[in-house]
Amino acid sequence: MEKLEALIFKRYITELKTQNPHAFENLPATTQNATIEQLAFRYDVFLLDAFGTLYNHNHFVYPGALSMFRYLKSKGKSVRLVTNAASKPIELLLKDLWLMGFDFRFEDVFSSGSLLIENNQKWKHTEALYIGKDTGASFLEAAGIQSNADTMNPVVIVSSVSQDKTLILKAKNLLKKEGAVLIVLNPDPWAPTPDAKRVPVCGAFAQYLAEDSQAKIHYLGKPFPELFHKALAAFSKQNKAIMIGDTLGTDILGATVAGIDTALVLGRNTPIETVSESENILGIRPHYYLKGF
Ligand SMILES: [Mg+2]
Repeated sequence: MEKLEALIFKRYITELKTQNPHAFENLPATTQNATIEQLAFRYDVFLLDAFGTLYNHNHFVYPGALSMFRYLKSKGKSVRLVTNAASKPIELLLKDLWLMGFDFRFEDVFSSGSLLIENNQKWKHTEALYIGKDTGASFLEAAGIQSNADTMNPVVIVSSVSQDKTLILKAKNLLKKEGAVLIVLNPDPWAPTPDAKRVPVCGAFAQYLAEDSQAKIHYLGKPFPELFHKALAAFSKQNKAIMIGDTLGTDILGATVAGIDTALVLGRNTPIETVSESENILGIRPHYYLKGF
């Protein structure tokens, strides 16, 4: 784990503990190795991470990901996608998933970007400076927020990293204003690329934008519990749920805080060799390890 990545996750942990002092009561004392068959025996609802777990830029990260998905469906499990991929509207995300064989329905996909719609009903922002891919702006539109690069309104919404120096400077200046707000649609600080390198992404970029400012930061998505609660809203407490993902500080941390059991996929993003070091840094661990698919 990168130093800055660990620092950002620790900030999330501090905020999560402030929001809920009982946040870590579902943390297991030990972690067991498991297979997907064993998990299918124990759980009814499977929340799956997308990027790094099922695929990475139209490639499978683990060759058995599609068989795992089909196996869960064949066992009658409820399978949902819980993703921070806020640079694409759910419709486009579904297209990517379908092309790879993951036949999720619209209502099975829970994206951090869509939380902007619910939250803005209380925030009532009407205009913001948006940084991210054009496709991600659809979440602003759906939330009734106009994207305006020349806005004087100190509201900045970010869904992915930008290299646009003018836009970055504008954002940094806006965030120094009194009452400034930074809304982060993807809290992931680091992510793997298809060639297995790991690079800083939206969560790290958001920290950079907010540097030297007193801006209030709202994080939407994993590891904050709202997205998990939304994904499980249709189920009763009798339906045992588990989150499967490749990132300790988002998938595992977030589901733990939401009171959901967890399985960490070991391999590309979290190698077996470094997992215990990462667990010690963050003070968290999953209920199960899955050694790829
Ligand atoms: Mg992931």
